[in-house]
Amino acid sequence: MLKTLDKKIELFNKQLRDLKVDFQIYLRSGSGAYVCGEESALFESMEGKRGEPRNKPPYPTVAGYNNKPTVINNVETLVYTSEICRMGPEQFKALGTKDSRGSKVFSVSGDTPIAGIYELELGMPLKDFVEEFGDGDTKAIQVGGASGHCVPRKKFNDTIIGFEGIPTGGSMMIFNSSRSMYNVLHDYLEFFTEESCGQCTPCRIGCQQLLKGIEAVKKGERPPTYLDDLKRLTSTMKIAAKCGLGQSVANPFTSIVDNFREEIIY
Ligand code: SF4
Repeated sequence: MLKTLDKKIELFNKQLRDLKVDFQIYLRSGSGAYVCGEESALFESMEGKRGEPRNKPPYPTVAGYNNKPTVINNVETLVYTSEICRMGPEQFKALGTKDSRGSKVFSVSGDTPIAGIYELELGMPLKDFVEEFGDGDTKAIQVGGASGHCVPRKKFNDTIIGFEGIPTGGSMMIFNSSRSMYNVLHDYLEFFTEESCGQCTPCRIGCQQLLKGIEAVKKGERPPTYLDDLKRLTSTMKIAAKCGLGQSVANPFTSIVDNFREEIIY
């Protein structure tokens, strides 16, 4: 994968050289840590340090990689920039909707016969997405990966993929009726507990408490109303955690608990 991206970046750099634009683009990944998707954690990782988000300000354009002003974007943004320059903004803007212009790359996984990477027009109704990629028995879709929102079947008709509905970084996980949404939530919370860099208390302790909390509710050691206490904890994490990892745990937690409460309780 990185080899392919390297080739794309090299092509982009060549286009820049042909245009006599005097800068180079470098491709870096974060040594496997999820939190290194956060820009300042990636700088730390690139500088050979533990991948942890920095305090902001200063922002990357003031002090980024090696404390120098840095523009940092994901590869998809750079590739689209190149495409927009090539095809012209009007052609790109003709795709999508008023609030969600253009197309986007999606990774489709889970209970689908055609898992893979696809480029789709933004503003697509979720029901059309399910018709295209589902296996005929889709129960829920996690829009935006582990940090995103879980949309149940009853809301497919009213949900748009884009800023008018649910914006997404592109990960679409499909679950069919055979899946336990308790297990899905449990897996996400284990993931966040593991991937939390531990730097701030709301995230480090919060993720652990959410995981222990749903286990206790599932075993009947805590009443179902304890889920509402845990939802309040995610609200605190949303405002008190230092970076997007801890702030976004509320998304999967609340959407799964609200829509599949009966699967979480004892
Ligand atoms: S929110 Fe989590 S991942 Fe982000 S800085 Fe705090 S502990 Fe680290």
